[in-house]
Amino acid sequence: MFSLKDLNELLDKMPLWKRMKESPERIDALEKRIVSLEKRLSGSGDICPKCKQPTLELVSSKNINELIGLRQFNYKCSNCGFTDSRNKVD
Ligand SMILES: [Zn+2]
Repeated sequence: MFSLKDLNELLDKMPLWKRMKESPERIDALEKRIVSLEKRLSGSGDICPKCKQPTLELVSSKNINELIGLRQFNYKCSNCGFTDSRNKVD
């Protein structure tokens, strides 16, 4: 008698069926890659010098010399934790 097991074995021999069986996992993996690419593309932060992601963001700033308008800007990467400070004249 032809059983469900036989049917599954038969279907396993069909390449298209194999691809369809793998599809949900492939789609999940592709979705993850798309989300990560979208994050990189829409990243509003500066490029982090350490991990090269656009996740370097301004976290604080303070006056260093008000007379000449010199301020210190502190940046932190939300991806790798890298910190940087830059002095700028406004
Ligand atoms: Zn980083």
